[in-house]
Amino acid sequence: MRDTPSQDVDPQRSICPFCGVGCGLEYDDARGNGVGWKGPVNTKGEICPKGAAAFDVVGDEERLTQPLVRENGRLVTAPWEEAFDRIERAFGGIVEEYGPDALYFFASSACTNEENYVVQKVARTLGTNNVDNCARLCHSSTVAAMSSRFGLGAMTNTLEDVREADVFLVTGANPAEQHPVIFRSYMLPAIRDGTTLIHVDPRANSTTDAADIHLPVKPGYDIPLLNAMAKVLLEADLVDQAFLAERVEGITEFTAFLDEVDVTENAELAGVDPDDLRAAARVYGEADRAAAFTGMGMSQHHCGTSNVHALLNLPLLTGNIGVSGTGVNPLRGQNNVQGASDVGTLPSTLPGYQSVSDADARARVAAEWGVEPPTVPGLTESEAIHEFGDGIHGAFVFGENPAVTEPNANHVSDALDELEFLVVQDIFPTETAEYADVVLPGSSWAEKGGTVTNTDRQVLRMRPSAELPGDARQDLDLLCELGERLTDNAFTYPSTEAVFDEMTRVNPLYEGMSYDGIGDEGQRWPFSAATGIGVDVLHSDRFFSGERTADLVAVDHVPPVDQLDAGDLVLTTGRVMQHFNSGAVTRRSDTLMGMRGEDRLQIHPGDAERRAISDGDRVTVANERGTVEVTATLTPTIREGTVFLTFHYDDPLSNRLTGDTLDPEASIPEYKHSAVTVTPVE
Ligand code: SF4
Repeated sequence: MRDTPSQDVDPQRSICPFCGVGCGLEYDDARGNGVGWKGPVNTKGEICPKGAAAFDVVGDEERLTQPLVRENGRLVTAPWEEAFDRIERAFGGIVEEYGPDALYFFASSACTNEENYVVQKVARTLGTNNVDNCARLCHSSTVAAMSSRFGLGAMTNTLEDVREADVFLVTGANPAEQHPVIFRSYMLPAIRDGTTLIHVDPRANSTTDAADIHLPVKPGYDIPLLNAMAKVLLEADLVDQAFLAERVEGITEFTAFLDEVDVTENAELAGVDPDDLRAAARVYGEADRAAAFTGMGMSQHHCGTSNVHALLNLPLLTGNIGVSGTGVNPLRGQNNVQGASDVGTLPSTLPGYQSVSDADARARVAAEWGVEPPTVPGLTESEAIHEFGDGIHGAFVFGENPAVTEPNANHVSDALDELEFLVVQDIFPTETAEYADVVLPGSSWAEKGGTVTNTDRQVLRMRPSAELPGDARQDLDLLCELGERLTDNAFTYPSTEAVFDEMTRVNPLYEGMSYDGIGDEGQRWPFSAATGIGVDVLHSDRFFSGERTADLVAVDHVPPVDQLDAGDLVLTTGRVMQHFNSGAVTRRSDTLMGMRGEDRLQIHPGDAERRAISDGDRVTVANERGTVEVTATLTPTIREGTVFLTFHYDDPLSNRLTGDTLDPEASIPEYKHSAVTVTPVE
């Protein structure tokens, strides 16, 4: 509970810590909450309820304010020196006995570029590429597909220019709730001016309210739907022949593949009306400019990479790439999920998405660090958890909460128990911290400076407004001390800016950026040091891969992992506006919990009636991986056969039910299609 901040607050212009929109945010003393300033994205100073509540972390009585160490099975307070001594001894012993690849580093997409850069530098200086961030769990499949086709896995366009689109195709995303300022300030005005919205989602939600066409796809059946749309584009001669001739390879093979696609059969397989699907494809194909947005409904599948490959065929067929008002635009979740990946907290790429096997990139890094990073890719975080207690003996978790966010949570709980030594650096006693041997109290977003990178590739400045509580320390200081303790390298930076400057020398995408240049306006990557400006619309003359052309790819339907027995329903998960991700912050916010205090299972009235479930009943949701108990809400907005929970709560912890089958290319787990039974609680 929080009344007024007990820490001193000196309002400074910063960036909202929640979603990837990147709204400018500052503290309003008179109101006692966050207000928007006219930032590069929220140009009128608009924010959503999460932004208004973001300062609730300041002065929260649950904040971690002293280091904790495990004694006789309990976490007790300890001096900083002792906490770091224990880490140094335990991690040092593990490295000595098993080598550096026996450690794992979870970086944080909720923390700054500078902090994430230092995390991966510590890991790589120590001799391991075992570092990852939770982009693994949200858009790694999107990045994998877009990188292989276009050479880069990021928004092809900017929020500003997509307003020029005649059609928005939104697949597996609910921007009205998950990216409210994008929806209200960029998409809705365009829709009111005549842009057609096609929404592909198993649920009719707040985004659907503004849609012209809703395709309520069955979870796990995006590929047949998108292939059928591609077939309609070809049949109706809505392809861009000039673009195909100049910028696309593989049309002959792709046409042969589509010859075998039956639009009606595919639509029925995907659970949508064939006429609606045809109408959606025609609207997309007839548009002068069509912009696609994609979210976790597409990416969080064991076939997430294939899903996105199927989507990418549509802009290639119709020439909707490389010009304003078009493109494929992944809506990134956490405020710095883009930046955490940009700066190298990925197991196979150095800062700037340079492969760890790229000798030139390694040399550039070595020139700066004095140490060459290892050449063998590390494990992804979703792979690493399966190695806890076997190949991985120690883990450092910085600002993430895998006990709640990873799939198959009961297994994750067992895996965390298997670690010899776990260190958690966070601002609250998270569910993951319950397993820790040492807990380091760090700094909240409101107490730190640095940069974050938003969903349309803008690097933005954060500035501290509040003092640290108790004995908590700056995250960056703690990470640098970790580096000093574990490696022979000096991690002595005179300022946060000095870390950023080093980062711009090893990350070609950020080369030439500076704090002064970013100012209040932001700088977009890929940035040109020569011109002092970033590239807005990617892939205009050439794809970022360097190629003039990109391939069309035939994508076969990949059946879901969980097969449905008679009576089973499909559980899919997602966010609501009032909360964010594991809920570690928003569940503690008085303001936000006042708006939505508990999770509810959304179930169609027909499915409920067959199970004798009434609105408000307690129900058990179960499968072979776990069981949760939750209150049911009956709603016709969800398709029959599918139920919905958020992933914001530790109780009900929806990830007890999700499976950990991984996408073979991106290692993203299957979050969106879990077979469950739903029964009334006796
Ligand atoms: Fe924060 Fe996103 Fe809301 Fe903007 S839209 S205030 S960035 S949560």
